[in-house]
Amino acid sequence: MLVRSLVFRLKDPLPNDAKFLMEDFRLAVNNAIRLGVHSNVTSRFALTKLAYKDFRKEHPGMYAQHLVSAFEVAGSILKNRRRRHRKGITEAVPYVRKLFMKTENQAYKLDKVNGIIDLPIRAGLHIQLGLIVSDYHRRYLDDESLSLGSLTLLPDRVIVTIRKQAPKPYAPASVLSLDTNERSFDGVLAKEDRIEAVVRAEFPEVSVIQSVHHDRRRRLQKKKSHDRRTAKRLCAREGLREHHRIDHRMHEVANAVLSFAEERRSMIVLEDLTGVKPRKDKKLNRRISIWPRRKLHQIIEYKAAWRGIPVIKVDPRYSSRKCPVCGRIQDSRKGAEFVCGCGWRLDRHINASINLLKTAASEKAAGGLWFSPGAFQHDVVMVLCGPNKAVRPEPNGTSGMRAIA
Ligand SMILES: [Zn+2]
Repeated sequence: MLVRSLVFRLKDPLPNDAKFLMEDFRLAVNNAIRLGVHSNVTSRFALTKLAYKDFRKEHPGMYAQHLVSAFEVAGSILKNRRRRHRKGITEAVPYVRKLFMKTENQAYKLDKVNGIIDLPIRAGLHIQLGLIVSDYHRRYLDDESLSLGSLTLLPDRVIVTIRKQAPKPYAPASVLSLDTNERSFDGVLAKEDRIEAVVRAEFPEVSVIQSVHHDRRRRLQKKKSHDRRTAKRLCAREGLREHHRIDHRMHEVANAVLSFAEERRSMIVLEDLTGVKPRKDKKLNRRISIWPRRKLHQIIEYKAAWRGIPVIKVDPRYSSRKCPVCGRIQDSRKGAEFVCGCGWRLDRHINASINLLKTAASEKAAGGLWFSPGAFQHDVVMVLCGPNKAVRPEPNGTSGMRAIA
């Protein structure tokens, strides 16, 4: 089952009854957390047994389903705490400050046509919440194959999860093999026994964003060295903004790659990045983080599953050092071009993607694909996604510009 979240803004300010409900919900969650810590239980069932009666007495009006859902939320918070505890991280009893409430699909109704949520508060009292529905939302709401999941109510928005049975991936007519680099995807599109084109999707902004935020964090730490708490808080905020900006860009890149693959009924071949360790960038004198690339793979895999596009991941060992023609393995991987004693030469990244393609073909029998270098047109380059001109290096006195060079 695949799950996705839709975020809706509300047409009108939240009614007071809904605010009271959220406050009660938070109270129930915190109450259950306290009891759970005290009695060392984490399951929803155990928490319900423990906390239901007393809370019910104090809040006789609250809709029973919402109360059970509060125990579920408390349970997952307790489970996370227990997991961290086992790793040796001890922390105080968790306390939920955020105002919100969550409920399962049996406990609310969504009028998909008019975009209205009907939410029971207590016996005899329901509230209606008008949602602002965009074309993006419409695509999902009108899809009959989707079913509704949980609903999360926040003071200014509503999050509805939608679920779908994973569609069966199509039978591929071609293969799109991509080597993942710090600033781009580089690869080839192969059909039957021919490599039809060199493909490229660029995301140089990601390393710019990372270096800007890295510098900023470093300056913050220096400036606030007398106040470690503030430094920590500000750095966390920087980190969050960095993640958001990179995330946004990664989604654009993933969409470009997936649309390209879908149009050509391609199977996507990626390298398996588990086990890849970050390398040191000599120019910037810091480690190049691997997470944007892992994140990009995650997004692609998830979206591909949703759209029924086949993706396989292969072991990248030697992919950047091997000659795809004669099979010789080189010692180093220096230089922009791969040059082999047998006469084969090619852009190093593209070369790596051919090796990934060969691995995929041998391991998973990707449509009986084999490789003949003679049939390779490397003059055709298809750009799936160029650098995003709209991304600024954020102009408030940062020294991040050097990363563009
Ligand atoms: Zn060779």
